[in-house]
Amino acid sequence: MRTTHDTPFTAKPDTLDPQDWEAVRSLGHRMVDDMVALLAGVGDGPVWQAMPGEVREAFKTPLPREAGDLAGSYADFQALVQPYIGGNIHPRFVGWVHGGGNPVGMLAELLAGGLNANLGGRDHAPVEVERQVIRWSAEMLGFPSTASGVLVTGTSLANLIAVLVARTRALGGAVRQDGLQGCPLVAYASTEAHNCVSRAMDMAGLGTAALRLIPCDAQHRMDMDALAAAVTHDQAQGLQPFMLVGSAGTVDTGAIDDLMALSRFSRLHGLWFHVDAAFGALAMLSAQKRPLLAGISEADSVAFDFHKWAQVPYDAGCILVRDADLHAATFATQPAYLRREERGLAAGRPWPTDFGPDLSRGFRALKVWMTIKVYGADKLGAVIDRSCELAQQLARRVAAEPELEMLAPVALNVVCFRFRAAAADLDQLNADIVADLQEDGLAVPSTTMINGQLAIRVALVNHRTSEADLALLVDGLLAAGRRRTAANPQMNSQGI
Ligand SMILES: *Cc1c(COP(=O)(O)O)cnc(C)c1O
Repeated sequence: MRTTHDTPFTAKPDTLDPQDWEAVRSLGHRMVDDMVALLAGVGDGPVWQAMPGEVREAFKTPLPREAGDLAGSYADFQALVQPYIGGNIHPRFVGWVHGGGNPVGMLAELLAGGLNANLGGRDHAPVEVERQVIRWSAEMLGFPSTASGVLVTGTSLANLIAVLVARTRALGGAVRQDGLQGCPLVAYASTEAHNCVSRAMDMAGLGTAALRLIPCDAQHRMDMDALAAAVTHDQAQGLQPFMLVGSAGTVDTGAIDDLMALSRFSRLHGLWFHVDAAFGALAMLSAQKRPLLAGISEADSVAFDFHKWAQVPYDAGCILVRDADLHAATFATQPAYLRREERGLAAGRPWPTDFGPDLSRGFRALKVWMTIKVYGADKLGAVIDRSCELAQQLARRVAAEPELEMLAPVALNVVCFRFRAAAADLDQLNADIVADLQEDGLAVPSTTMINGQLAIRVALVNHRTSEADLALLVDGLLAAGRRRTAANPQMNSQGI
């Protein structure tokens, strides 16, 4: 690994720009060539490999005072960073819910970095790019074109924004000055809702205890009778139900709440209807899957990610709000140094900063815009169909293998199952099998708990995953399970 700096980067005396632009250009070309080569052969190497101790140590050098060498620091990147990534660009990364990225988005990141646009506000074309992405999102979800929205890091932040807008609707704009003051607000989501909904309640100051987690049916969807009972109970206690959060694609099993029923229930009880559709929203691009999301177009707000199923490089989340005025009423302020004008660069209101907590914001929109323009929404929809088809194929394979059993129905693109054996601790065995595969570099599934049992969880999100990759994954899981049960005479791999 490279630690010496042969030819220090020489900046012009008064700026950070180089003396020698040609050197920057030629190294930049090499970086593009290298990254294209990496992506073109992305399935060849291990999915993941543990970082050796000396590599980790290499990150502990003190603050550099002297000029370094651009080529040298690129060599460090190649030696220390690139081989030890999480692996979600690899076709056999099927853990958690990660997007695979795409080369168009990568090039867009280069362009965005060059322009160094600040999308907090003001009147410039990068803001128009983001507005178009928001309008396209509204079109995708069946929202009116007057809906507002803003790109954020991810659905976690998008959900927080939704909670804050719903709070403003329930308590009025004065809550922004007066604070919550013995606030009686309570919200509802299912037990399968992503943990970030609870964190949003925490960060909004409402508290996680004010989020009621409603039990689910056998399909892992919110039980509507239990919801009605919880709301009635809270009302009788003098509390104020204000928000209902539906899940469109739960993180554990990909289940989709009955969004139509949730929408009707929300109208009936005056609740803000929000949908966490982190990855599921993109199923709106699939003619085949769209009916599963019926009702999402009725929502007051939807949170989703472009960095998952839409394959835009991290990070790119989005919040969409039906009522733009209420959205702005939750965040807009106007300090003197951010005066909005009718003309000049300070024109162009409302600004993106009026719709969320960030002031300075990067040009995330460009990688989303270019990904959608280059591939087209239909092609992204086809990726969704393919992921779901692969999930069904995997479920069939699991059902056909006597040593494997399904732990949850497959609603969309997530398959939860486990290796069966007469092991004392089946949960530990399955966790070990998953870790074995990860450490072998063969594949990266993850785990979760389903009905109190540890499940091997395969989330099919990556556009690069193929049938052959899933065959390698299952063969690898079976081999690891057999190896582990054979090593332990108390276990056998023929099931219970
Ligand atoms: C991933 C996910 C989130 C969190 O989104 P981030 O982009 O990681 O912040 C929320 N809800 C669901 C259902 C998810 O899958």
